Amino acid sequence: MRCPFCGGESVKETVTFSYEEEDRYIFIEHVPADVCARCGEKIYSPEVTDDLLRIARKKLKPARKIEVPVYEFVTNQ
Ligand SMILES: [Zn+2]
Repeated sequence: MRCPFCGGESVKETVTFSYEEEDRYIFIEHVPADVCARCGEKIYSPEVTDDLLRIARKKLKPARKIEVPVYEFVTNQ
């Protein structure tokens, strides 16, 4: 499969999908995707995209929770 963004070759991988909603982030692990070897863009099939959106909307009990530190961007001066 060709990357729709840069035309690079993609390889089948298992990735973590991240999704942001207001001040809440969710991650969905072990998602099959085509990952561009050139630009790193993740390409999901329509079926996988449907599953991801369903999981994100359902707000199921998460498999596990992780703590995510949030940093303010500062320029090194
Ligand atoms: Zn690409």
